[in-house]
Amino acid sequence: MNDLKRLVRTIPDYPKPGIMFRDVTTLLGDPQGFKATIAQMTEPYRTKPIDAVAGIEARGFILGGAVADRLGCGFIPIRKKGKLPWKTIGEEYSLEYGVDVIEIHEDAIKKGERILIIDDLIATGGTAEAAVKLVTRTGGHVIGAAFIVDLPELGGAKKLKALGIDCHALMAFDGH
Ligand code: AMP
Repeated sequence: MNDLKRLVRTIPDYPKPGIMFRDVTTLLGDPQGFKATIAQMTEPYRTKPIDAVAGIEARGFILGGAVADRLGCGFIPIRKKGKLPWKTIGEEYSLEYGVDVIEIHEDAIKKGERILIIDDLIATGGTAEAAVKLVTRTGGHVIGAAFIVDLPELGGAKKLKALGIDCHALMAFDGH
């Protein structure tokens, strides 16, 4: 875990003053680091029945595709507003630094399908909570949510656990 943590680059004051941006591109670009990240994100769900992984744009796509392959299930993209070509449903959410909308294809999930949500980082949990709502509204059942990084002081993982969602992160950083 410490080895993986060392591969995450921290960029102070990006994208705005006061934010410590945890840049996982350095971890994903490291062959052993990427392999270990995917193995560790997959591990808690190996024995659980998962029908599909839902990855949140954009870093959740890189991770989610690889995790879905390991679990032998399909991949569902959750994208920023206006990017998906078919009929969508959307949810507004607050970011650590702004407001946005994410969308899912209305027919992406069949009723009762068991879904694992994947993103690179959980901060306030606004994005992940919006993803949980989208999956639930399309008839899916959220089995868990997995991230590389948790920022526990921002309370996102706690928020998901309070919603009854099993939540895993490979590492945590203090502060914002
Ligand atoms: P939140 O909705 O507050 O949990 O924010 C999580 C989303 O915003 C994830 O998709 C992250 O990629 C991005 N994000 C928020 N804060 C940071 C940060 N400090 N460093 C890198 N990415 C962040």
